[in-house]
Amino acid sequence: MPSYRELLRQVKTEVEEVDAAQARELLESGEPPVLVDVRERDEWSEGHIPGAVHVPRGHLESRIEQAAPDRSQPVVLYCAGGSRSAFAAKTLEELGYENVSSLAGGFTDWKRNGYPTQLPRSLDAAKRQRYSRHLLIPEVGEQGQLRLLDSRVLLIGAGGLGSPAALYLAAAGVGRIGIVDDDRVDETNLQRQIAHSTETLGDWKAESAKRTIEALNPDVEVIPYLERLTSENVDRILADGWDVIVDGADNFPTRYLVNDAAVWHGVPVVHGSIYRFEGQVTVFKPHEGPCYRCLFPQPPPPELAPSCAEGGVLGVLPGIVGSLQASETLKLALGIGESLAGRLLLFDALTTEFSEVTLRRDPDCPVCGDNPTITEYVDYVEFCQGRPAHA
Ligand SMILES: [Zn+2]
Repeated sequence: MPSYRELLRQVKTEVEEVDAAQARELLESGEPPVLVDVRERDEWSEGHIPGAVHVPRGHLESRIEQAAPDRSQPVVLYCAGGSRSAFAAKTLEELGYENVSSLAGGFTDWKRNGYPTQLPRSLDAAKRQRYSRHLLIPEVGEQGQLRLLDSRVLLIGAGGLGSPAALYLAAAGVGRIGIVDDDRVDETNLQRQIAHSTETLGDWKAESAKRTIEALNPDVEVIPYLERLTSENVDRILADGWDVIVDGADNFPTRYLVNDAAVWHGVPVVHGSIYRFEGQVTVFKPHEGPCYRCLFPQPPPPELAPSCAEGGVLGVLPGIVGSLQASETLKLALGIGESLAGRLLLFDALTTEFSEVTLRRDPDCPVCGDNPTITEYVDYVEFCQGRPAHA
């Protein structure tokens, strides 16, 4: 039986080796090889070569096809000193890889040459635990979770739709959640607005929701805006930087403001609305799909406007629609799946039926069309009895 040293010497004569300078040249060439770091997780997390993919030696055979699906594509492997990667190169050759080399001297020699290194961002142990069910989904994974933690979502309204959306976004680890709401919690809200409770009656909804979110997930930073969205404050609030807006407002002045601001700031809006047993959800993606004004260029005339006071709703309905909004928001933040842009999803709780209507961008839209006629915010007056209500 050969000793380890003899075996290593033998393997090294059989595999191709490149030194740090050659490896760097290859990586900077027009057609760089796939660079694979075969070290353990703790070594990788202390720094690696930029552009490398991490496939620990122990998982090489099972995971290399994901990192390098094309066996004719050149692969450069490295470890700390060049021994593990030599064995790994031998393995890849046995798996049919045609152009494999091992970095002689490994990461140690790379660093000694003063070449660039990169510290990977990774989740700490507590976050790996908390988000473990996300890490198990390939479409999310560690990088997706980091993306969620970096993402910023603005909720318009902490009412029926905003409550479930806020809670699920917070639970999923969306790192920053802004909440615009100038309303206080009252008894009639608690039948559906699950971010609030009997204990927070009389409190600002945005503050009440903030407390619920912080108890659920301390990773989330909540920014409450205790104000009603107006033409005066909308630019200031959007200037705080948001990736997605979740519109849970139930009045058209706010809806138009959100729409126009989102088009001008280039932020997608996940729109939801509810009435009695019926809910609607869609995504307005500026210039990629229709906006709200493509469908309804102007608010309805006063005589056709619904009365705010009659807006009854089945308690669970906002939970369903708000959860769909959260789902659309997470997809947008992760850049996965197909959004509801250009599709209006309708839900009827009485028959438990979903249906869908195709929406098209209107080239004559007064805001996102080819020749916009509305270029400044409009403060519409709500035409209904009683104070404006959030869903
Ligand atoms: Zn439009």
